[in-house]
Amino acid sequence: MQISVTRTTAPKAKTPDNELGFGRVFSDHMFLMDWNIDKGWYDPRIVPFGDFSLSPSCAVFHYGAEVFEGLKAYRTVTGEIRLFRPDKNFERLVNSAERVSLPAPDPADAVEALRALVDIDRDWVPHSEGTSLYVRPFIIATDVNLGVHGTKNALFAIILSPSGSYYKEGINPVKIMIETEDVRTVRGGTGYAKCGGNYAASTRAGDKASKMGFSQVLWLDGVERKYIEEVGSMNVMFKLGDTVVTPKLTGSVLPGITRMSIVELLKDRGVKVEERLFSVDELVAAAASGELKEAWGTGTAAVVSPIGELAYDGKEYIVNGGNIGELTQSLYDELTAIQWGKVEDKKGWTVKV
Ligand SMILES: *Cc1c(COP(=O)(O)O)cnc(C)c1O
Repeated sequence: MQISVTRTTAPKAKTPDNELGFGRVFSDHMFLMDWNIDKGWYDPRIVPFGDFSLSPSCAVFHYGAEVFEGLKAYRTVTGEIRLFRPDKNFERLVNSAERVSLPAPDPADAVEALRALVDIDRDWVPHSEGTSLYVRPFIIATDVNLGVHGTKNALFAIILSPSGSYYKEGINPVKIMIETEDVRTVRGGTGYAKCGGNYAASTRAGDKASKMGFSQVLWLDGVERKYIEEVGSMNVMFKLGDTVVTPKLTGSVLPGITRMSIVELLKDRGVKVEERLFSVDELVAAAASGELKEAWGTGTAAVVSPIGELAYDGKEYIVNGGNIGELTQSLYDELTAIQWGKVEDKKGWTVKV
């Protein structure tokens, strides 16, 4: 792939690491590539970060024709810049795009584009502990036509956002509300795809939970409202006795790369992991009996997020005294040590830029 590069003539001032937050600051450049049904992918280019000019009739504005990814570039303790499992993100982007009839670039090309972009903006990878350069690849349908039809034109873009430490105030367990009205997705729907529409469907419940003092909602399946699926935009895991249980990938659960990595680390340790249907009744019974030892969410943003309290059907269940569990903490430590280059990456999960 021949990527053309147009460098900015007006580099922006960098925001101090402690003022970054999440998703508000963007680097100097972005990667763009167009697609047409006859030409395929063309014109891969790195250009100054800036606004798009699109017809108001573009399909992305009307029919939710959008898929995205989220991953991070880290500045390691040895001063290198490394991406965490970017190949997995771009493989998932292909699956997401296929579900909503969008084209997706070849994962190897996308990794190459991302490395070239991060290399140009390498000074934008923040330095402080816990910070990272958040990477947001996405694909939108750009057809100038209100008719509902298969996509004929699309745009693939990657933007970069330096982000502050997720755990600036330390790792505090969160309160979760089990959502019994809204569902995020259904079997046969788009749950396994990372598409904007899934977020549109889940924002209302998140807002409601937030007003009631909860950080996230725990989603139940959309057919029976019985089986646990995910927590907010994270996958979820429970330690029951000595076994870790996580909902299996039924098609309505997003196949998280953090989930996949944590399951592998657990299995390496010899911990029994069950990927299966797990009902909310089984969960609250285990919480009430004390069999539920720990609970946590997994995702790129938080890596591991301990759950300290679950609310369901007017009752509240405290997990591990509201504290982070030993296993939760050790998984966070083990995975972030690989990401931050504190230990040798024996798995080959990180890619140097
Ligand atoms: C992105 C996402 C996750 C987490 O996936 P990771 O690859 O671990 O970041 C989980 N659930 C939903 C709904 C998501 O969009």
